[in-house]
Amino acid sequence: MENQTEAAAAERQPQQNPQPQQPLKTKFCKHCGAQIPEDAVLCTACGRQVEELKGAAAQPSIIINNENTNQNTLGAAQAGRRRSKWVALALCFFLGVIGAHKFYEGRTGMGVLYLFTLGLFGIGVLIDFIALLFKPNPYYV
Ligand SMILES: [Zn+2]
Repeated sequence: MENQTEAAAAERQPQQNPQPQQPLKTKFCKHCGAQIPEDAVLCTACGRQVEELKGAAAQPSIIINNENTNQNTLGAAQAGRRRSKWVALALCFFLGVIGAHKFYEGRTGMGVLYLFTLGLFGIGVLIDFIALLFKPNPYYV
C-alpha cells in the first residue's frame, strides 16, 4: 500500500521530468476538439486557426505600394516596339530616301511621306541618320 501511494505521488509530481509537462493553460480546439495550449493560434492537432492573430492585427499591416504596374506595362509595350539601331541606320543610309527606316519603325505614314518626297528632299533622311546615331541600341519606338 505504501509503495503504491508513493508511486501515485511521484506520478502526480514528476520532478525528474524535464519535458514541458508543466501545467500549461489549455483550451480546446473549436475545430477538432483537441486540447491545445491556451496561447496557441493554430491548433497543434489539426493545424487550423483558432485565434485571431492579435499581434499582427494590433500592428498596422504593411502596405505594399505596387505602383510599379504602370511602368511594367509601359516596359512591355516598349519591348514590343524594340528596334535595332544598326538595322535602322543601314536602312536610313541606303534606303532612307524611300522611307525604309520609317517603315521599319512602324511609322507607315511618315514612310509614305518620305517615299513621295525622297526623304523630305534628303533633309529628313540626314536628320534621321544623325538622330539614329545618338540612339541606344536597341531603341524603342
Ligand atoms: Zn484542431
